[in-house]
Amino acid sequence: MNRKFDVVIVGGAATGSSLAYFLSASPSFQGSILVIEKDASYQKCATALSAASIRHQFSTPENIQLSQFGTDFLRRIGQALEVDGDQPDVGFQEKGYLFLATPGGEMIMRENNKLQRSLGADIELKSPSELQATWPWLNVSDLALGSYGVRGEGWLDAYGMMRAFRRKALSQGVTYLEDEVVALNKTRSTVTGVTLKSGETIECGTLVNAAGTAAARLSAQVGVVLPQESRKRCVFYFTCPEKLPDCPMVIDPSGAYFHPEGEGFIGGIQPPPEQDPECFDYDVQHTLFDEILWPVLAERVPAFEALRCEHAWAGHYDYNTFDQNVILGYHPDVENMVYANGFSGHGMQQSPAVGRGLAELIEFGQYRSLDLSRMGWERVLNNQPIVEQNIW
Ligand SMILES: Cc1cc2nc3c(=O)[nH]c(=O)nc-3n(C[C@H](O)[C@H](O)[C@H](O)COP(=O)(O)OP(=O)(O)OC[C@H]3O[C@@H](n4cnc5c(N)ncnc54)[C@H](O)[C@@H]3O)c2cc1C
Repeated sequence: MNRKFDVVIVGGAATGSSLAYFLSASPSFQGSILVIEKDASYQKCATALSAASIRHQFSTPENIQLSQFGTDFLRRIGQALEVDGDQPDVGFQEKGYLFLATPGGEMIMRENNKLQRSLGADIELKSPSELQATWPWLNVSDLALGSYGVRGEGWLDAYGMMRAFRRKALSQGVTYLEDEVVALNKTRSTVTGVTLKSGETIECGTLVNAAGTAAARLSAQVGVVLPQESRKRCVFYFTCPEKLPDCPMVIDPSGAYFHPEGEGFIGGIQPPPEQDPECFDYDVQHTLFDEILWPVLAERVPAFEALRCEHAWAGHYDYNTFDQNVILGYHPDVENMVYANGFSGHGMQQSPAVGRGLAELIEFGQYRSLDLSRMGWERVLNNQPIVEQNIW
């Protein structure tokens, strides 16, 4: 006889394991939960390969609030995810983002700041002279304004956070299975279960698509086109002979970013559109560093003329080609399938709030803590993109 679970989650990284944790932590939820993860080493998933940073500097209220809950959760993650007296430490470094704007970007930065502050985000605007006084190693000659996260932003060990979610979910009775979903079984508008690579078939009440960059393929099996592609993003680790005191996560107007990491820094930049096709390999684009990133970094921080790239890796964004924001919740054509896809570079920081939100949606049929309905399928089906100004 086939096994049956009330909720089957495909993908057990940050999103899937956060949801498994929040749902199994709900005292009123009595159902069974299965997480199916094809690679329990998690070596290639976006969560493990991410730059693992969290910010409140968005231009969409929901994106700000999703990350604000992420920060709250990270501050108390040790207690929340404690198992047998062992409290996880995910090394959350609350150090702030520094977005930089040229005169062309000043107005939008000021508008974003108003929204961010109205939602309680502790973000300060700084003039070029204030920027220079605070970070003397920065070249501010072309800048009109900076926007600095005083509290709440920073970076962490994303792999550690994901493992902590998973371990706590297991301790709360969630079942994890290492196998690959190769087919979704469906009758009319209902997913009845999944077929696994091992040949087993499992029946489900609710099916959750938390399959990261594989989500569009999974969705196609129920006839729903998910506007998502796998886009390669490279992260470079480099050292520099000169120290940069109090270095935050710096976001250059070009979109290049860097922050301190151990003895050095990590940084990256989005490739130009013509070099950014759908992509599944993990080869590092070294020319991106030599020809684009390094010149930009050295212009912004003259000390970086002397940097040395030590190593690099490539991962994949779950890139929403429609509007680069997460698509959350049910699709009207498939009554029991929940989506959490298309994060486009924000999924790690949004995973605590998305896990909590989807747990509420599945158990109660509605969001209770934070209304995430605007992030649902309706905007996609009605062709009304949510325009987030701070995508990079
Ligand atoms: C280089 C890089 C830098 C990033 N930087 C940041 C950042 O600074 N901040 C931030 O918030 N986000 C960042 N992101 C984005 C973030 O990492 C992702 O949005 C987030 O990790 C997505 O989590 P997920 O659990 O939804 O997907 P994933 O982490 O991709 O996990 C999906 C899981 O599903 C499994 N799976 C897939 N198909 C199947 C199947 N058929 N059967 C069973 N299992 C399956 C996979 O094995 C995988 O473990 C970055 C991403 C990259 C690549």
